Amino acid sequence: MNPKYIFVTGGVTSSLGKGIIAASLAKLLQSRGYSVTIQKFDPYINVDPGTLNPYEHGECYVTEDGAETDLDLGHYERFLNVPTSQANNVTTGRIYQSVIQKERDGAFLGKTVQVIPHITDEIKYRMKLLGDSRKFEIIITEIGGTVGDIESLPYIEAVRQLNWEMKDEDVLVIHLTLLPYLSSTKELKTKPTQHSVKMLLESGLQPDILVCRTEHPINKEIKKKIALFCNVDLNAVIEAIDVKTIYDVPMMMLKEKLDKTVLSKLKLSAKNEPDLIKWVNFLTKYKNPKHEIKIGLIGKYVELPDAYKSIAEAFIHAGSHNECKVNLEYIHSELITDESAEHKLGNLDGILVAPGFGDRGIEGKITAIKYARMHKIPFLGICLGMQMAVIEFARNVLGWKDAHSTEMNSKTKHAVIDMMPEQKKITAKGGTMRLGNYTCEITKDSKAFKAYEKSKVNERHRHRFEFNNIFLKDFSSKGMLVTGINPETKLGEIVEIANHPFFIGVQFHPEYKSTVLNPHPLFIKFVKSAMDYSKN
Ligand code: GLN
Repeated sequence: MNPKYIFVTGGVTSSLGKGIIAASLAKLLQSRGYSVTIQKFDPYINVDPGTLNPYEHGECYVTEDGAETDLDLGHYERFLNVPTSQANNVTTGRIYQSVIQKERDGAFLGKTVQVIPHITDEIKYRMKLLGDSRKFEIIITEIGGTVGDIESLPYIEAVRQLNWEMKDEDVLVIHLTLLPYLSSTKELKTKPTQHSVKMLLESGLQPDILVCRTEHPINKEIKKKIALFCNVDLNAVIEAIDVKTIYDVPMMMLKEKLDKTVLSKLKLSAKNEPDLIKWVNFLTKYKNPKHEIKIGLIGKYVELPDAYKSIAEAFIHAGSHNECKVNLEYIHSELITDESAEHKLGNLDGILVAPGFGDRGIEGKITAIKYARMHKIPFLGICLGMQMAVIEFARNVLGWKDAHSTEMNSKTKHAVIDMMPEQKKITAKGGTMRLGNYTCEITKDSKAFKAYEKSKVNERHRHRFEFNNIFLKDFSSKGMLVTGINPETKLGEIVEIANHPFFIGVQFHPEYKSTVLNPHPLFIKFVKSAMDYSKN
């Protein structure tokens, strides 16, 4: 069988949730027995989102193979429970970078290099890459941005060409739009959808299926109107009504028969009925919690919760596993001082200090960690959060008041967090951190071991600085132990405080690996400890 390609475009406004619709459709097709992957094409000129401030596009998600990608890839993995890779996220920057490199290499034999055909050819080549690998039967491609944007045009043109080149039954275009509701007249309006389909048609692309975001149910009359004016089958107008959780969307799409419509258009058999038992089980536990806790997430991008997307989702997975509602309170680290700590943190059952870069807000993070350590509140520090836990311990337990990370203070005598040797010669910022999967060996009987229940794990990284092993003995003599190390480089991966119910700092990012079907062991244990703490 040829690989089948499904393209998902968006119209009317941005932020309609193309990523969630793509992931939900993929989930349904996967649950029927198809091997599916999802990729995202982003129309911005950065080569990848690794150098972007989280305020721009939210969190930067990291894949196993060390690609710094759009946060939608996190949704793909959380829904499908299958890892993505570098090939699953492509930006305009990356497309141009490789076309320009080919031009420098003389690959175009004296021709003028142009958007069409050279840029569109490169886009098409990358759109087909995962299909050509023959590892997947269905490839869903989400086109970032909104139809009508200037920067989206080459992508729409590439999809048009692929649509023309491939057999009808091998390609499908799904267009996601919005039906605004006018409360004064109590009606859903279809005109913006008609216009956005018209815009696609101007580029030569007829959508096969319309998924319509709406706050109110779409009646048959409106569906008929949309079908007629947008030239699609009646059963290809799909209602996507607002739901409480993104994890309801696959069930909603199942009810709307999106998967069946897609399969029949692709001339694929429905195979078995969707096997969603585990998914439903997760949802049932998530919606019927028996316990409730409050966790403080201490970070400096808290105005934009998308900056900590994977962490928030990991709490949902671990919460459901523990049948516990996790109320996440985002707390700005710049507002935490010795004076405000009690007021800001006193009512929490657990404290998580988030990853980050640079020195804004770090003193507040250190103060929050001190509070968690002294009050024996369950604590999880991720990446920068772990590094700050090491600094806090050095300053307040070992008594080294000048202890710091050389990221913030290059002159300190107690550089307890220092740049990794291989990082010292690197000056370029893009894609140069320690990225992706590395092995970590865990000490038996440690807290981390109790969470993982194994002594060897693989976790994803994104950092330049590390625990400075010169001080290893000083830390362990006072009770902060390194309980996870990289077996090859001996880099410290996990620190914990023995004399504390749950105090763990990890140099890696466990949140990237948490999925609906595989909640992360550290998050499960952290939530469990917070539940125990809340009972005291
Ligand atoms: N800024 C720190 C480093 O580069 C931590 C990075 C992070 O939290 N992802 O090592």
